[in-house]
Amino acid sequence: MNGRTVDLTVIDGVIESVTDHDPIDQSGTDLQDWLLLPPLTEPHAHLDKALTAEEVRNPTGDLDGAVQAWAAAAAEGRFTPDNVIERSTRAIELLLANGVTAVRTHINISPDVGASNVYALHRVRESFAGLIDIQIVALPRGPMTGPDSSANRAAFAEALDAGVDVVGGCPHLEDGATDAVAFAFDRALEFGLPVDLHTDETLDPSVLTVLDMVEQVHELGFDKMVSASHCVSLGVQPLEAQHDIAARIAAAGIAVLPHPQTNLYLQGRDHQAATPRGLTAIRPLVEAGVVVAAGADNVQDPYNLVGRSDPLETAALLVMAGHVTPEDAYTMVSNNGRKVMGLAPVEFRPGDPADFVAINAPSIRAAIADAPKSRRVYRAGRLVASSDQQTTINWRAST
Ligand SMILES: [Zn+2]
Repeated sequence: MNGRTVDLTVIDGVIESVTDHDPIDQSGTDLQDWLLLPPLTEPHAHLDKALTAEEVRNPTGDLDGAVQAWAAAAAEGRFTPDNVIERSTRAIELLLANGVTAVRTHINISPDVGASNVYALHRVRESFAGLIDIQIVALPRGPMTGPDSSANRAAFAEALDAGVDVVGGCPHLEDGATDAVAFAFDRALEFGLPVDLHTDETLDPSVLTVLDMVEQVHELGFDKMVSASHCVSLGVQPLEAQHDIAARIAAAGIAVLPHPQTNLYLQGRDHQAATPRGLTAIRPLVEAGVVVAAGADNVQDPYNLVGRSDPLETAALLVMAGHVTPEDAYTMVSNNGRKVMGLAPVEFRPGDPADFVAINAPSIRAAIADAPKSRRVYRAGRLVASSDQQTTINWRAST
């Protein structure tokens, strides 16, 4: 922590004191010279789809191919609630082992599955109580407006009644995108919930529903947290427009969530030369004061064939493809995700939650670069996961 070697005292799940290390005191757990960091956060997952890359093929590799493939699988009833519970559990265990103590997952709601996967996630959350914070976002299938919306709206209403933490949606995929944004905010107002919308996940610069979100916040005086996930099309605007829009997003207090893993996979397949990166305008957003929190989005499913359930992988892509410093990248996959989720940041001050991860690395840069498996994960002061990496090189081994 800042190069200091410290002793940390935890009482009732909260950091009580942080003092310079006393080499005589042998009473606590000794993490030697490991790096003590705020816990990792996954602010945008799709646990109902996780780990299905072998079962559901995306024939085109782009977003539309993934959406169609998943809708077809849902219509066939390929994934039962028990199967969702089993895969979600595996995915959360992977996240937890890597140092994640809070995850927000979007869950598909459609006439095919109704709210069944929301109930499945309730059970998963119960089984992980005390280990990891889990927030559920109702992600309705569109259209949510117009003549073909009634069955989708009914399924969405069922999910909201079942109990979710956040109102979601994909307004940019609808013909009536502005109305769909307004519909999401109306439901959020009605249920007193924050909003987290899939926003402008396209390289088409004419799609900018994030401005509809800005307008809704001001018009309604909306005072709950609002998050715009993806915002890919903001990244292909002229620089001046990026700065102007970023300032408006900042003034509305909307957080933006880039997802480099999934958007580098899905976007840009039509551009075989000078392929765009599918990332939002990270630098203008940060300069404008917007909270930028990064997630993986999908993991080993038709939207993203790979992914290791490790936010340090997301952080590495922020450094390589987003040109963010390692320190800022770490904040984007830790405390900024906590801010999006309404959780107190962990800055190792007395009174902060005693959630943290210890990594066997000499610096944040090295932690992101090497992503060592050797980690200790603490939740409310309790060790909840530990991993050790062991490698043997048989250097010039005798025969
Ligand atoms: Zn998503």
